[in-house]
Amino acid sequence: KESTARENNVAKIKVVVRKRPLNRKEVSRKEEDIITVHDSSSLTVYEPKLKVDLTAYVEKHEFCFDAVLDEQVSNDEVYRETVEPIIPIIFQRTKATCFAYGQTGSGKTYTMQPLPLRAAQDMVRLLHQPVYRNQNFKLWLSYFEIYGGKLFDLLSDRRQLLMREDGKKQVCIVGLQEFEVSDVQIVKEYIERGNAARSTGSTGANEESSRSHAILQLAVKKHIIVTDTRRQRDRDANESKNTKAVGKISFIDLAGSERGADTTDNDRQTRIEGAEINKSLLALKECIRALDNDQIHIPFRGSKLTEVLRDSFVGSCEHTLNTLRYADRVK
Ligand code: ADP
Ligand code: MG
Repeated sequence: KESTARENNVAKIKVVVRKRPLNRKEVSRKEEDIITVHDSSSLTVYEPKLKVDLTAYVEKHEFCFDAVLDEQVSNDEVYRETVEPIIPIIFQRTKATCFAYGQTGSGKTYTMQPLPLRAAQDMVRLLHQPVYRNQNFKLWLSYFEIYGGKLFDLLSDRRQLLMREDGKKQVCIVGLQEFEVSDVQIVKEYIERGNAARSTGSTGANEESSRSHAILQLAVKKHIIVTDTRRQRDRDANESKNTKAVGKISFIDLAGSERGADTTDNDRQTRIEGAEINKSLLALKECIRALDNDQIHIPFRGSKLTEVLRDSFVGSCEHTLNTLRYADRVK
């Protein structure tokens, strides 16, 4: 809830930029480091330019963000700057989304991969606090992928999933498996299992792993205890009827936005995938702009990705959107 977010001093949208070190290829090409981080919220990009008479000069562009993290900053510090502050409000009916935005190779997967496990660690710790233990709060995990506009459950043999809107205009992913997780080791196992099931195998090959969006959700639910035997039978038949959603955090490892010039691939399937990815990234950008401007209408119907995130975008301002953005090196 926005009010909850405000009380907790958490902004509705937080944009954090992480600078990554030059990679081996960039170093071997003797590329220059054109980004300087000044302090915890600003950076300068030095853009090399040529005058008409071909003399070189540098244009300086200064940018401010909610936070700027320099290249030596660890993944754990990224967690503490971005996700940690919103964990408590997930227990107070907030839906949050966290993703990294940037070109292929900018470090999205590198940055996103460790976050869900760290979040689960803190969430499990909170669950054990008397206030939540007494309310019967439990943590649930699901992990799925959007690939070529289709949804696949990464924790149930890549079963294809369908999306449906229920009577209350809530998006529901039919068949998505959710698992109750009460300790961090189990969370780790699910994450590894899901990673292994991603459309392109492990994240080793960068170009391969960036053709799909992977969405890992950690949901806090309140379990309703039923004592009546008839209802107990119903309970056994449908566990989910006896739980009530409290809050949720979604971590998205986004597919890469391709630069036109780099696309040498003439493969039809690859081009279709690329078009789908660009469509969804554009739709996401539009939703964020609408949220940022406090617009009533959020254009979530623009893509599968934004439709899936609908419940985090709409519903009486129940959203805290957390964006990790990257300063693109070359533009
Ligand atoms: P993306 O998912 O945006 O396409 P990756 O996360 O796969 O990019 O990163 C590309 C490569 O750069 C990987 O080999 C990764 O290990 C490395 N890398 C990215 N960010 C960092 C960083 N902050 N520090 C060190 N290596 C990084
Ligand atoms: Mg990636």
